[in-house]
Amino acid sequence: MSQENLKLQFKLDQPYFDNKSYIIPTKCPHCEICSHPKTITAESLPYPDLVINKSVGIKVTYPHSGNLDVLMHQCILCEKHYFTLHLHYSNNKNPKFLLSYPSVSFNDVPTILVEHYPRFAEIYKQAHAAEQLDHIELAATGYRMSLEILAKDFAISENPEDEDKIKELSLNNCLQQYFQDMSSSVSGHVVKSLGNDYAHYIRKHMDVEFSELKYYLNIFLENIEKRLKLKHPPTRVPDLKTQK
Ligand SMILES: [Zn+2]
Repeated sequence: MSQENLKLQFKLDQPYFDNKSYIIPTKCPHCEICSHPKTITAESLPYPDLVINKSVGIKVTYPHSGNLDVLMHQCILCEKHYFTLHLHYSNNKNPKFLLSYPSVSFNDVPTILVEHYPRFAEIYKQAHAAEQLDHIELAATGYRMSLEILAKDFAISENPEDEDKIKELSLNNCLQQYFQDMSSSVSGHVVKSLGNDYAHYIRKHMDVEFSELKYYLNIFLENIEKRLKLKHPPTRVPDLKTQK
């Protein structure tokens, strides 16, 4: 479920941009087709007060110089233009992708999940946006919240008679009671970490990396997607030959 990205290098006769790699989404925001865009122009502006938030639970805040790089691309298919913004720390060779304008449509969540659980999809989308901006703690909180919403909403849709009970459950208990097959297949401490409230998660499970959280969250989403697809198969088209 990760967004497809493209590593881009270009030549514009501007020494600043030489030998740098820029990560940009592969999908053009206009035609939404994956393509290799042509970079038309680029500008870099100094940004003297960068704040680095390195990883879950470790907050490093200090003045740090760097640049904001703005690139203008042209899609080779629809020929429309779009911009990407990148953060470049002075001590780091490769800039970090921040955003694209117009923004690339969010399709990281399978359509069937968006249709059935729009509240989950919205929170997941916000967590994803926070991650793109390197707000890792916020992203982790958001991903965990999206998991709780999806787990509870799915459990309620499967067990409507338990609605009041499910709403009151902790995420951990909800996972253990209504997703036993997954709880047993996924590493125990990770499920427990995902299920704990986020304050506990930060304090007690520093060993669980953010990427691990996302890894198991994605397994969970894939599992729910599969169950939904089995429950809602495509509408069968009537076979005209047999209808005489
Ligand atoms: Zn295009």
